[in-house]
Amino acid sequence: MSKLLLKGFQRFKEKAYEGDDPLMPRLVREGQDPRYFIISCIDSRANPGTIFDTAAGTFFAHKAMGAIVRPYKTGTALAAALDFAINYNAVDTLIVLGHTKCGAIDALIQNLNDEEISSFLEVAQGGLAKAQQKTKPGRDLHRVTEEQIVLDSVENLTGYPSVRDALAKGKIEIKPWLFDMEQGHICEHNPKTDIFEPIESEV
Ligand SMILES: [Zn+2]
Repeated sequence: MSKLLLKGFQRFKEKAYEGDDPLMPRLVREGQDPRYFIISCIDSRANPGTIFDTAAGTFFAHKAMGAIVRPYKTGTALAAALDFAINYNAVDTLIVLGHTKCGAIDALIQNLNDEEISSFLEVAQGGLAKAQQKTKPGRDLHRVTEEQIVLDSVENLTGYPSVRDALAKGKIEIKPWLFDMEQGHICEHNPKTDIFEPIESEV
């Protein structure tokens, strides 16, 4: 059952453990120093390691259905992870990475009858209401909700003490991103136009 994964691990091992000054032994020796902290959906198609094609040691990862960030509460997995990444490492960029065709957003809109999932999604009801108000004729409610949830998650992030303090000191920035799976774009919210615009390649 796990053969597919172990074959992939073998390929990773050849790249990361062999040759001159291989990556993994170096990261073990010197420790990690990632610049990014990415909050993404659990969706198997929107995995940041895959879509950004990055090497080990590039970013911290946190996953939640719909990439939803709840308002701050002490003692949560996310609060501790952000504290570790910002205060004990040199992370300077937080990314909330939503994506199109998100099952969590669909469940929110469809009001899925599942106690466990609904109780998690409850926090995003306000975002859905905003999206319903904001959706102009011809625009897809799903897409507008996916975008709105990213914006609300970014807003909620700023209430986490480690994030709030680092923002006040100008140490970090937060990027509201949406992975457009159909078109193959990473879109970023432009506060001037209030539109998620595809990022032109900077490389
Ligand atoms: Zn999703």
